[in-house]
Amino acid sequence: QAAQWTEREQQARDELEHRVGERTRELSTTLSELAIANERLREFSLRDGLTGVYNRRYLDASFQTVLSECRANERSLAVLVADIDHFKRVNDETGHLVGDDCLRMVAGLIERLVGQDGSVIRYGGEEFVVILPGFDKAATNGLAESIRMKLAESPLVSQGERLPLTISIGGAVSMPHDQDSPKDLLQRADAAMYQAKKEGRNRVLVA
Ligand code: GH3
Ligand code: MG
Ligand code: MG
Repeated sequence: QAAQWTEREQQARDELEHRVGERTRELSTTLSELAIANERLREFSLRDGLTGVYNRRYLDASFQTVLSECRANERSLAVLVADIDHFKRVNDETGHLVGDDCLRMVAGLIERLVGQDGSVIRYGGEEFVVILPGFDKAATNGLAESIRMKLAESPLVSQGERLPLTISIGGAVSMPHDQDSPKDLLQRADAAMYQAKKEGRNRVLVA
């Protein structure tokens, strides 16, 4: 009798162990799926819905960290503020859908030219910010010029319409021993962008 119970107990225990093992594997699959979904959601919440580049939430969450990292490694950090010229006209004359299309194309162009060197953020309606770790004034000027020139040289085409667009870009550079905050840097780049507008648009001005 006792031996029989032990055998039954053993069976029950094996069965239970097997089920716990199964449930553990299921749970760990669920957990890793959840982690992936969570990561996708996070990535999604940091992207701009229209253009796919980063949004302002990303900038707010990461700018200080990127700046601190640059400081710690004695690297400079540059910021660009780029604003499409007379964009209101595009909307007024060709409609919002074409306007949206232009925003996607301009964002794509900036992203391609920046590549792995930095992050592109849609800062407002037709305004983009680019964060460039390690960039000095000459490199910043060079990249901004290449964005400006590329856009000025190749008119965008949307729904069969050629749209000659230009962009004004302001830049600011923080050197390793500078004390400026992300806000200071953005303000300087923004002021330079406004100055570029004032001087006639379709130009680059690095403070
Ligand atoms: P400036 O050269 O001085 O920058 O002139 P602007 O016309 O570009 O500047 P303004 O700030 O007066 O107008 C920006 C326009 O951008 C207003 C709005 O019609 C347009 N805009 C902003 N966000 C969007 C968007 O998501 N889609 C579309 N289609 N247009 C947008
Ligand atoms: Mg504009
Ligand atoms: Mg603007």
